[in-house]
Amino acid sequence: MNLGRDNHPELRDAVRALCSQYDSVYWQGIDDKRVYPEAFVDALTKAGWMSALIPEEYGGSGLTLSEASVIMEEVTRSGGNAGCCHGQMYNMNTLLRHGSEAQKKKYLPKIAAGELRLQAMGVTEPGAGTDTTKIKTVAVKKGDRYVVNGQKVWTSRLQHSELMILLARTSPIDQVQKKTDGMSIFLVDAKAAWGKALDVRPIRNMVNHETNQVFIDNLEIPAENLIGQEGRGFRYILDGLNAERILIAAECIGDGYWFTEKASKYANERVVFDRPIGQNQGIQFPIAESYMEIEAANLMRYKAASLFDRKLDCGAEANMAKHLAAKASWEAANVCLQTHGGFGFAAEYDVERKFRETRLYLVAPISTNLILAYLAEHVLGLPRSF
Ligand SMILES: Cc1cc2nc3c(=O)[nH]c(=O)nc-3n(C[C@H](O)[C@H](O)[C@H](O)COP(=O)(O)OP(=O)(O)OC[C@H]3O[C@@H](n4cnc5c(N)ncnc54)[C@H](O)[C@@H]3O)c2cc1C
Repeated sequence: MNLGRDNHPELRDAVRALCSQYDSVYWQGIDDKRVYPEAFVDALTKAGWMSALIPEEYGGSGLTLSEASVIMEEVTRSGGNAGCCHGQMYNMNTLLRHGSEAQKKKYLPKIAAGELRLQAMGVTEPGAGTDTTKIKTVAVKKGDRYVVNGQKVWTSRLQHSELMILLARTSPIDQVQKKTDGMSIFLVDAKAAWGKALDVRPIRNMVNHETNQVFIDNLEIPAENLIGQEGRGFRYILDGLNAERILIAAECIGDGYWFTEKASKYANERVVFDRPIGQNQGIQFPIAESYMEIEAANLMRYKAASLFDRKLDCGAEANMAKHLAAKASWEAANVCLQTHGGFGFAAEYDVERKFRETRLYLVAPISTNLILAYLAEHVLGLPRSF
């Protein structure tokens, strides 16, 4: 079966060849031991895929977000979990689009060479939740540095990243015209601050996702590590989040094709009542339906990615792509599990692992209700609900 492999065939072939070296046994072992897939991420880095978005002048391959999304799609499509590596792709955009020339020259070649990883982004806080404007982490300018205090939660891949993008308030919320003003983003040398100004505590979670609570105590950041203008960080983060949503949509599409193929194969092979279970329409139709939904979501993913690549407004499309793809992959996961009956629960089939992994994307990086609220307000002109 060769479902959904129409666009960028050469790129797909190359990424697929690499992914095929990290098979089901590899990912089961990683999941079982709850460790980070170092060997896989190293191989992706050495092959240049982790720096796909970095322009050639800084040592990367200068691919578009559409192409980067194909890389992420192929990782999940192969049975792997792209949560270990997608951070670098979308964090990169923040630096590329809003960083200064000096910042790009300093960091991008080292990231491209695999000497530094920019895998972590600290936005979410325990007290603020989705209402990012209520973050309590503050950065106060003192001479040529900012001093940061606060707390983050769900900061992913920080144990495997030298650098982190950090969002903090630089002006109190009651002193700004719009509550989205007065926040800034910084590029943080997390490794240097590890165990000193940064106290990082892992969160055990449903998937094997390296994610943490981070307590920040007098973290000093050189002023030159402020990205863009002070106070405009929320806008920059939103731009980066569009890239994140498109990449995650692509991962869900990859998952969706994986589930659909896996279910179809099993339905063809499994014989019960003297015939393949796939001969029953009760088994066929849900697989056909989930395939159709993935194909439809895929169209929105390419539309959103193309808008992003042309630097056009893509907020609605990026949100829709992520939502449609996450829903479609979750539905495909359910169907695949049901098709496998009891064996769907056995770890050796990978279905239960992928089922857990794809479920995350209805919640993170943005939950379903918030996408619906965005569309209702910004596209349909309905009253703001919060
Ligand atoms: C494994 C994992 C990895 C993550 N990685 C990162 C990371 O690297 N960096 C980072 O910054 N964050 C990260 N996150 C955080 C993630 O982005 C948030 O969990 C997500 O945005 C939801 O926020 P919350 O958990 O605070 O939910 P809450 O904001 O507390 O919301 C809880 C529920 O209420 C609903 N809700 C809230 N307000 C409304 C409303 N007005 N109307 C209707 N429904 C509403 C939400 O949709 C949600 O279903 C990660 C999360 C997870 C689970």
